[in-house]
Amino acid sequence: MDIITSRYAGYCTGVTRAIKTLDTVIKENRAGNNIYTMGPLIHNPKVIESYKRKGAYPLNDINLLKPGDSIVIRSHGVTPQVMDFLKEKKVKTFDATCPFVLKVHKLAKDLSSKGYYIVLIGDKNHPEVIGIKGNINNENYVIVDSVEESAKISPQKKIALLSQTTRTEENFKLISKEIAGKIKDEVLIINTTCKTAELRQNEVAELAGKVDIMIIVGGKNSANTTHLAEISKNIQARTYHIESADDLEREWFKNLKLAGISGGSSTPHEDINEIREIIESF
Ligand code: SF4
Repeated sequence: MDIITSRYAGYCTGVTRAIKTLDTVIKENRAGNNIYTMGPLIHNPKVIESYKRKGAYPLNDINLLKPGDSIVIRSHGVTPQVMDFLKEKKVKTFDATCPFVLKVHKLAKDLSSKGYYIVLIGDKNHPEVIGIKGNINNENYVIVDSVEESAKISPQKKIALLSQTTRTEENFKLISKEIAGKIKDEVLIINTTCKTAELRQNEVAELAGKVDIMIIVGGKNSANTTHLAEISKNIQARTYHIESADDLEREWFKNLKLAGISGGSSTPHEDINEIREIIESF
């Protein structure tokens, strides 16, 4: 079995930064403070378990924090209200929000202050979207997840269109087209999808067209990994989204010649390499 591994598989810069931040906090925790991350640091259960063993735990309820505890803000970011709460509570806060996400926070804040109605493309329940929403200065916004939802937007004078960073370029373009065609006045379209994610998505689409089977590695709760699997599945029906080597099935590869492997931005390179070795052994 020949295998092509995606050049862009593995941690993105935002995730690498968050991991390094947590590693430093753990290393320098001489006082033995409790260490938490705001929710799972990345959407990868295996990595989260390894950090629990090092004494860093994901936390979902910030009300449980005590003064002196340490918390790392993951690459998805949080709302300004959460940051204020942490400051008030005297929690040691280490902000590893990805700079690309911070850029969307700033745009949401500035444009809503200037009177734009913000249309944010994304998943309402995703932490990144919740963090961006917290920066919008008023109730003049809507979050849309699809072309169908964007078609329901009521006419507005000034619209600014922003996106969750991990949305696909295609999804962004389709929704922008729908909105630009519907609104007659001012429409400001700012493509805030992440270029790293875009390169990865384009490469997966190209790879899926070449191989007999695609393996996408990463947490089932990872939005960007799930998007990659969707892109691949649309081109190559034999696409499998797996979380770890344990999910591989020898049967999938029977009588096939060429396999492709990629992974989301929260998938460690070691996982990709391990899976490659196992497939090679089939
Ligand atoms: S996918 Fe892009 S925006 Fe998201 S954390 Fe990685 S580098 Fe940042």
